[in-house]
Amino acid sequence: MALTHSLGFPRVGRRRELKFALEAYWSGDSSEALLQQAAAQVRQYNWQVQQGLDFVPAGDFTLYDHVLDTAVRLGAVPERFKADEPAITTYFRQARGRAPGGQDVPALEMTKWFNTNYHYLVPELADDQQFSLNVDEQLAQIREARAAGHKVKPVLVGPVTFLYLSKQREGADQRLSHLPKLINAYSQWLDKLAAEGIEWVQIDEPLLVTDISSDWQQALQTAYQALSEAPVKILLASYFGTLGNNLALATSLPVAGLHIDAVAGRAQLGVVDKAWPEDKVLSVGIVNGRNVWRTDLRAAIDSLKAIGERRGNQLWVAPSCSLLHSPVDLAQEDQLDDELKSWLAFGVQKVEEVQLIAKALNEGEGAIGEALAASDAAAAARKSSKRIHSDTVAKRVAAITGNDSQRQSAFGDRIAKQREYLKLPAYPTTTIGSFPQTPTIRGLRRDWRAGRLSEPQYREAISKEIEAVIREQEALDLDVLVHGEAERNDMVEYFGELLDGFAFTRFGWVQSYGSRCVKPPIIFGDVSRAQAMTVEWAAFAQTLTDKPVKGMLTGPVTILGWSFPRDDIELKTIAQQIALALRDEVVDLEQAGIKVIQIDEPAFRELLPLKLADQSAYFDWAVEAFRLSAAGVADDTQIHTHMCYSEFNAIIDAIAALDADVITIETSRSANELLDVFREYAYPNEIGPGVYDIHSPRIPSVDEMAALIQRAEAYIPAERIWVNPDCGLKTRRWDEVRPALKNMVDAAKQLRSQV
Ligand code: GLN
Ligand code: ZN
Repeated sequence: MALTHSLGFPRVGRRRELKFALEAYWSGDSSEALLQQAAAQVRQYNWQVQQGLDFVPAGDFTLYDHVLDTAVRLGAVPERFKADEPAITTYFRQARGRAPGGQDVPALEMTKWFNTNYHYLVPELADDQQFSLNVDEQLAQIREARAAGHKVKPVLVGPVTFLYLSKQREGADQRLSHLPKLINAYSQWLDKLAAEGIEWVQIDEPLLVTDISSDWQQALQTAYQALSEAPVKILLASYFGTLGNNLALATSLPVAGLHIDAVAGRAQLGVVDKAWPEDKVLSVGIVNGRNVWRTDLRAAIDSLKAIGERRGNQLWVAPSCSLLHSPVDLAQEDQLDDELKSWLAFGVQKVEEVQLIAKALNEGEGAIGEALAASDAAAAARKSSKRIHSDTVAKRVAAITGNDSQRQSAFGDRIAKQREYLKLPAYPTTTIGSFPQTPTIRGLRRDWRAGRLSEPQYREAISKEIEAVIREQEALDLDVLVHGEAERNDMVEYFGELLDGFAFTRFGWVQSYGSRCVKPPIIFGDVSRAQAMTVEWAAFAQTLTDKPVKGMLTGPVTILGWSFPRDDIELKTIAQQIALALRDEVVDLEQAGIKVIQIDEPAFRELLPLKLADQSAYFDWAVEAFRLSAAGVADDTQIHTHMCYSEFNAIIDAIAALDADVITIETSRSANELLDVFREYAYPNEIGPGVYDIHSPRIPSVDEMAALIQRAEAYIPAERIWVNPDCGLKTRRWDEVRPALKNMVDAAKQLRSQV
């Protein structure tokens, strides 16, 4: 009898109840009791959804982040947060730098959880870090689940992944020196769970799907050797990829169960099945935990049948990873058409799929006859649907040649022609695209969507906003202007709504961090452009000024990366389709007289595969897609790109291969290391290292920005330096933006006068 379980469920709630409870608490409009009540309701709902599983997860819930919870449970709270105050105050001060009632303090750093868009708080360990266990609140959650009648499997972030993701404040890497103390703490933790009568504990070590050095492999050995003494059974969970080089290690660890991701790591199912002893539990993540597509039940059952027959109740069926990365419930989507809906599954539906697959394995396919027929029908419809497959798009993609991603001339020739045409001063100044999204602007878009403003009224109002932004930029004496993006709600959604092949949900929220959620569009079909998307606004802006206006597009990799991609064709093909649509837009912009065009790629690094061996294939298609979108223009049209992060080490070759005429990047933090990468690579094109940190309300002075530009000259020749902020200005206010940009322009002028 195959058993069923899940690795974790979304914490935000079906209607983002936790988000609203958190924000009310933070703003002082609510109490801790009300917040905890909302949290308890989300947990109850989650368990109820999962009650048909043989084990429900507990302790996966968190008010902010499960890695922070792990650190807190281990007593790893950095000195600067310690204060005589309620635990919840210390907790939120670590997460956000501030909590009602506590002192403001720099928060913990935040970074992406493996290759997902979820951000965790980076644990900070002192050189002499000690651990002291406090898991009472996790035990309370377990009791709560039990009281509601569920069979519980607690979920813990594993000690080695925890250490690996943590950082120490300074000096050489000593993370592994903490391992023995940490193992000790985890042993006590498992003892406590055993004392609660817990049989199985899920310990997550996603580290297992990355390339790790032998000392980290050794650490896994040591840790699980020691923890195997604990009086509970350990289900060691890997996800987001194959075990790869860690296969022999993982399958030799003395744990009672192993979970593998058979979606991202489809290829490894047979291999692990051979290598993993038959008297131990093999948990197979067969339902995709991080995309929105309905599982092809027949295919899933077929791939597990033989394993199930051999392993019996030692086979567990599960989603591939925690459902944290899925939207909660498809049933509430009342504005998606039935056909599209029949192809989708969110968290609630994925839990049902797991149960159906196990039932078919245990009782035969007849036991789920109706569901199987529906799944077959959905799979067949999707394969042949005219909504998904466009011959025109397929032909165009098939006809792509190497030439299509080549600009007409090399950078040296292009830049000469661009300088001739644009006649910009030294240290040209520009911005990244958006200007403040004022309440008025948001109100305009809202009223238009709700039908309170007619199309002509809306267009008129947006034109006025554009005109105002152009006048502001002229007054500031910026060199390359932008139209300000007032018409855009979000840089991906805006394009998704205008492109064919995209669908949007009403409640498909996924936690990004804390109370922040994103609602990624769903790419369900071949992508094409029905009409121009940005030309009218850019061209209008250009009529208002003699200075060049920069057209503004989101790049193919970013549109793909911030959407749920379809799973029936390769990512590469989706990227090519988007790139071709953008290419037409770029050419149309050029024809409308827009001679500077920026193609934003802030997600370029994010899509980098976890394993080194997979990275070059990614670079090949990602670079091709960008170039494809950019290469349709004449030499004297200048292509910009923008990326707002400062870690280019692993990707500098690919960044250079994009061959954008100008790249603007974030530099406000660790500028020297960043620019060093560009210098060492001898990066040949123009660069705008951001001199104004737009994430902070602070207004940098002229001298400060001039010094930053001068510092950049140690790395990049002055004639290739642009002057610009770190990122778009949409989250700032005009009274911050105006003086900051004035200082920025003055800094550029000061340097020009010294040439
Ligand atoms: N052009 C976009 C803006 O200015 C870029 C945003 C981003 O890089 N995330 O808002
Ligand atoms: Zn940016």
